[in-house]
Amino acid sequence: MAYQISDDCIKCGACASECPVSCISEGDAKYEINPDECIECGNCANVCPVDAPQA
Ligand code: SF4
Ligand code: SF4
Repeated sequence: MAYQISDDCIKCGACASECPVSCISEGDAKYEINPDECIECGNCANVCPVDAPQA
């Protein structure tokens, strides 16, 4: 299962630059992960200040 970003996201943008497959993009209300490209490395969760990306 790909990681998903919860509504806790404050759109700081830190996760996007840490994703090795560049599958995180800015959405309207929060950042979003393309589930077809996520390789479940966990980098986004490690850098997120509010723990929004969940496995
Ligand atoms: Fe990108 Fe890794 Fe987060 Fe998936 S788990 S969105 S590959 S940083
Ligand atoms: Fe949202 Fe966390 Fe990514 Fe920042 S690091 S944009 S709060 S998911």
